[in-house]
Amino acid sequence: MKIKTKLTLGVGLLFLLILLLVLVGAKYIHALKSDTENILMTNYNTLEYAGNMLSALDEKNTKSFDKFELNLQKQEKNISEIGEKEATQELKIYFDGYKSNKSDSLLPFLRQEIFKIMEMNMQAIQRKSNVAKETANTATLWIAVVGTLCFVIAFTLLINLPSSIANPIQELTESIKRIAARNYSERVHFESHSEFGELARSFNTMAGKLAEYNNSNLAKLMREKQRVETLINNMHDPVLGLNEDLTVIFANEEAIKIMGLKQTELIGQHAKDLALRNDLMRRLIQDLVIEESIKGKNKPIKIYANGKESYFEKESLPISIVPTGEKNSILIGYVIILRNVTEYKELDFAKTNFIATVSHEFKTPISAIKMSLQLLENERIGSLNDEQKSLVESIKEDANRLLKITGELLNMTQVESGNIQLTIMPSDAKEILQYAINATKTQAEQKHIKVELTCPDNLPKVQADNEKTAWVLTNLISNAIRYSYENSTIFLAITFNYQLSTINFSVRDTGQGIAPQYKDKIFDRYFRVPGTKKEGTGLGLAISKEFIEAQGGEITFDSELGVGSTFRVSLNG
Ligand code: ADP
Repeated sequence: MKIKTKLTLGVGLLFLLILLLVLVGAKYIHALKSDTENILMTNYNTLEYAGNMLSALDEKNTKSFDKFELNLQKQEKNISEIGEKEATQELKIYFDGYKSNKSDSLLPFLRQEIFKIMEMNMQAIQRKSNVAKETANTATLWIAVVGTLCFVIAFTLLINLPSSIANPIQELTESIKRIAARNYSERVHFESHSEFGELARSFNTMAGKLAEYNNSNLAKLMREKQRVETLINNMHDPVLGLNEDLTVIFANEEAIKIMGLKQTELIGQHAKDLALRNDLMRRLIQDLVIEESIKGKNKPIKIYANGKESYFEKESLPISIVPTGEKNSILIGYVIILRNVTEYKELDFAKTNFIATVSHEFKTPISAIKMSLQLLENERIGSLNDEQKSLVESIKEDANRLLKITGELLNMTQVESGNIQLTIMPSDAKEILQYAINATKTQAEQKHIKVELTCPDNLPKVQADNEKTAWVLTNLISNAIRYSYENSTIFLAITFNYQLSTINFSVRDTGQGIAPQYKDKIFDRYFRVPGTKKEGTGLGLAISKEFIEAQGGEITFDSELGVGSTFRVSLNG
């Protein structure tokens, strides 16, 4: 049943009951009224007329006949009881006789008839009052019955009607709460014809659709998105997301913290605009804006974060997707991750300091050993036999190697701490190369390797730090000798590039060459091609690269396995 019908019926029923109660009451009040009226109108009037007639008889004057006659006439019109009519007629006969004869002998008969009529009406009053009493009792009974009935029905309505409306609402509220707690299998079951039934059907449809939505990809995607956002936010490393237009689309709390900006100042802003007033942002998007291709790793960025100088390694990842149904991938943005490498950097500093101290401390005793060996070789101190001479020679070689290693390590510490001391001045390129040739002369002679030099006349001066450039060229020639076969030739050349105005040195050997897979790693620190039997530290080329780049130059190489390698150094002319 519909709620509206229920309420209409309930209220209507109450209305009807009130109406019934009123009708029953009115009916009995009316009955009582008519009973009383009956008594008053007929019997009471008769008694009054009879009383008047009796007093008229007692008065015995001229007016008394008229008074008697008037009351008799009224009585004749007010007959209500059985036998009253006959008694009234007899009274009239006696009165007519009394009026014509004026005989007092008729007075007792007159009085007797009047009393008879009075008696009749008195009895009628008695009887009618009993009837009125009965009517009152019946009225009380009926009103009590109808009242009780009304009370029972009203009480039943009072108990049932509010709960029949409130209970489904409560059930619905509970169900909604359960659905809100992601219990999408929840359904409500109300009687099917009420509005609640319709509500339940709509609710169940909604719950079904929610369940469907929950199982759909969109919901999964939303959940995945939330998961990824939470993951990124909980990362200890700062992470920044840019779209293809370089607008910041997300930044985790760490990123916001080190950028020194508020979230609202960062998200949705164009990175290029932010770069104008934020140094860190400028450095972060440098490679995205300036270079076309994005380099993976750069030098660590020094930022004052967490109350101290911190180092972050930046990684810019271009994000590309292949749209559904298409073949080519398109760039949709970039993710910039800053890895906090402060701890490693601090350890690295400690290591560099340690190596610098140790290498420095080694240099003096090694030089002393070399001096002593030179003294030993001096004939004035005493002559050595052949065996002693060869022992001294091998100690000398070891001391030289140790000196080379400590020298390389010291240079490396300079490079790592960023303290490369340069003295760049216009220098003679040929002189520098000649110095390197002389330094490696003995080494080349030992392997019977010829060194050929090609150099044009009137070569312009090179802008270089003599010592560092000579060190690099010595290292390149030394490598060429070490990784070449005996009796081979090493080709050295100096050329001038007029267009770029650069002086180019090249060191070409016909040695074993370098396999293509190691080409990217050859300038890395401590890297040595696997299987290299010659002694070495893997630092020479790394230091060379740093020394040349610090002078604004470039070092490159070509190599073919089994054919040979060519290393080129170009410096500003
Ligand atoms: P080291 O020579 O002390 O090992 P370098 O940094 O000078 O260190 O060289 C790194 C590595 O590159 C060497 O171990 C070697 O394997 C390779 N290499 C360098 N120069 C040549 C060359 N001219 N021919 C072949 N391999 C070379």
